[in-house]
Amino acid sequence: MHGLIEGLKTRYERSPTHHKLEISEITEIISLSRLPGMPEVASDLHSVHCQKLCDLLDPDSQSKGVPTSEALRAKCQKLEDPVDHSALQATFGTSDGELPTLQSFINDLRDSKHSCIQGPAFAPACKSVMEFLDRTEPAKIDANELHTVLSALWEEAEIRDFIRPFAVHLPALLFHPTCIIVCVEDALDHFPSGCDIQGLLWTAMKRLMKLSKGRSYILAVLARSLRKAVFAHPYAIKSLRGGLPFDDYILDFINNPASIGTEFLFEVVAADKLQQYLPHRTYASYYGMREWHAYAAVIDILHRIPNDPYVSSPETARNILDELELPWEDQKPPVAVKCPWKNTFQLQAMLLMSHYCVDDINVEIHLDYLTRALVVESWPRYRYLLEWAIARIYRRFPEFTQRILIELGNLEEYSPIHIASLMKIGLLVAPYETQDFAVEFITHLNSYSASPKVQIRHEANFAVPIVFDIAIEKGWKRITGNPAFVGMNAFIRRLDKFNASPWTIRTLKVDIEEDFTLTGIFQGRYLSIETPEPELVTHEDFEALERDDQSDGFNPPPARIALGNKIKPSFDVVTPAKTTPVPTTTTTEPTGQITLQTKAGIDLDNLHPPGGPPSMQNARPASVMLVASLIDNPTNLGGLSRISESFGLEALYIDDLKKVAHKDFKATSVRSEKHLAINELKEVGVPAFLLDAKSKGYEVVGIEQTDRSGILGTEDGKNDVVDEGMIRKEARSQDIGTLPKKCCLVLGSEKEGISAEVLAVIDRNVEIKTVGVTRSLNVQTAGGIALYEWWREWGNSKA
Ligand code: SAH
Repeated sequence: MHGLIEGLKTRYERSPTHHKLEISEITEIISLSRLPGMPEVASDLHSVHCQKLCDLLDPDSQSKGVPTSEALRAKCQKLEDPVDHSALQATFGTSDGELPTLQSFINDLRDSKHSCIQGPAFAPACKSVMEFLDRTEPAKIDANELHTVLSALWEEAEIRDFIRPFAVHLPALLFHPTCIIVCVEDALDHFPSGCDIQGLLWTAMKRLMKLSKGRSYILAVLARSLRKAVFAHPYAIKSLRGGLPFDDYILDFINNPASIGTEFLFEVVAADKLQQYLPHRTYASYYGMREWHAYAAVIDILHRIPNDPYVSSPETARNILDELELPWEDQKPPVAVKCPWKNTFQLQAMLLMSHYCVDDINVEIHLDYLTRALVVESWPRYRYLLEWAIARIYRRFPEFTQRILIELGNLEEYSPIHIASLMKIGLLVAPYETQDFAVEFITHLNSYSASPKVQIRHEANFAVPIVFDIAIEKGWKRITGNPAFVGMNAFIRRLDKFNASPWTIRTLKVDIEEDFTLTGIFQGRYLSIETPEPELVTHEDFEALERDDQSDGFNPPPARIALGNKIKPSFDVVTPAKTTPVPTTTTTEPTGQITLQTKAGIDLDNLHPPGGPPSMQNARPASVMLVASLIDNPTNLGGLSRISESFGLEALYIDDLKKVAHKDFKATSVRSEKHLAINELKEVGVPAFLLDAKSKGYEVVGIEQTDRSGILGTEDGKNDVVDEGMIRKEARSQDIGTLPKKCCLVLGSEKEGISAEVLAVIDRNVEIKTVGVTRSLNVQTAGGIALYEWWREWGNSKA
């Protein structure tokens, strides 16, 4: 419609004389304005568009007496009015010029048979009750009367099915601090009124929580109102004493985040347009605040829950923390990379709450819980937050840091991921530790740098220079003066991988103290790196909350965590828009050392040649994709091209398509590249690519020697003959060694094998059993053997 209007305008500017429309044509355009099923703003915008179109096509359509044009005109006229009438003064109880009382309101309800709160009168009625609550001492309010009035309004909204013009006014009214105080005091009273005001608020809270899941505009008003309610009375969160089930609310908010329906996103855009015609019709005038204000309010509750020993409201906070931790701690390996119940917000909340919920008495329990969650977790972002939380607990209770060193000394007892976790945590606490700790720690790192297990070696290598830097800064001579550490530090710094751009979360530095601010937790770099995740809330949202408190004269209890500095957007950091789905983009290569790769999201379709994926173009017989992006030697890539083509794969992915033209590539590929889809997939894009492949039904299998790998071709997932004293003594359960029918196979780089960040998203690994002393096979050989095995398993099955 907008396009038509603009087009016609331009045309008339060029030639003012134009063809007049027939009545039937105008009627048809007008009938468009009655399209059913559109949400509010879209429908209003549509009416404005229809009216504009009619005016343009035929400025005097009114005179022609088109019957329906009247209705359209009338609707557009009404749009000039405010969105709701809450700005208008309600009439109840003010006839004698006195301040309204609840009794006068009840009289009005009775006399008008509730019509004084119906339809457009609802919003002004809510507003005047709120004004009354604002101005009246809770002690002067009769619980029974308040209950009557609130029930009447609640029922009215219920009759109207809680449609938007009703629902948006309820939270601020029902959970008004005065209502909460009246409710709690009544429950504590020796002679309670007997009315069930707590029951009403309870029901309303549950109902509105549920409604907010589908109607995102309720989220922010509800959260903002409940936030004020929590702070209204020390017993507000003690449900046995007349308070409300805040723990349920908060847990539900964090664990089952509301999704923002596309129709609301469309309303946002429609409101933006409508506002250009009618400036008072903003999104907020219909729906109030956007969802992120809900997050700001809930987080604000979390870090301000009052610490009143007599009421022991931290009890509630502790329960919330325990409930959040429980499912994480309770996971049994192997843990899937993406579990539907897990989300980043849970960990952010745990990090925030552990700050004040962990004390002398429960510190070991929390350390155990969080560590247990960490050592089975593979998703880098989750690991990052768990490590941060654990390190902060050690920081606050340094008497326990010996645990890190003791466990690091027990290589036999722990899995590689556990050891890697311990090293990371040691690294995080090192700046706040003593020289003794650091010396013992770097000694362990030195040994682990020689580990045959990639994961451990990577972690140890990466940590050494960082600890060394800390030692220089602190003047820890026992480290800086020790030739073994000096040599190790110098050696690792010369490795390419140490100097590579920090595009993974694993190498992202965090200062567990300085970064521990609301902004650091909710807008840290770790959210925009690797597979970016939308920010739930920003610095500005917390500021908005503070500003609104000031203008309302509302004084919340003191904050426990600083807001922190505003994030300066660096030139190449693209922050995904809040609440919109993570956009997928093709990755670009990090140019030079300093470019920070922030978006690893990759659009699979962009990688395929036009005309769809190769599997469709030219039905290749093996439903297998081979990812060779970690490999850089052109000879090896040429060999893999030959193998992939020979075994009929769907596609081969390599880091740089230019390599196909390299003479060494050609020497081994023997023109196989002409008959095979070879696509470019940058190394940085591999984790995102693999996640995407999984969503398309591929199982992602690494061809790699890891401590968990299944032996290729064996089904039971056990190492068939375990030689005492040889490679593996641990009776750990292994992955199975057969290959899935539809799979994405990943090979590792010649030097490093499969990197830790890629391992993190791989479903399972298989390894080729060898008996000689040579450490590993050439990558071409490994690829060839794996593909032969795929055909052995699936060759006879029908496509
Ligand atoms: N990780 C080895 C070197 C990697 S060899 C090391 O630390 O020395 C290069 C790649 O070939 C590996 O990443 C893996 O994908 C594959 N590979 C080599 N030998 C293998 C074997 N026995 N089983 C499975 N994959 C193997």
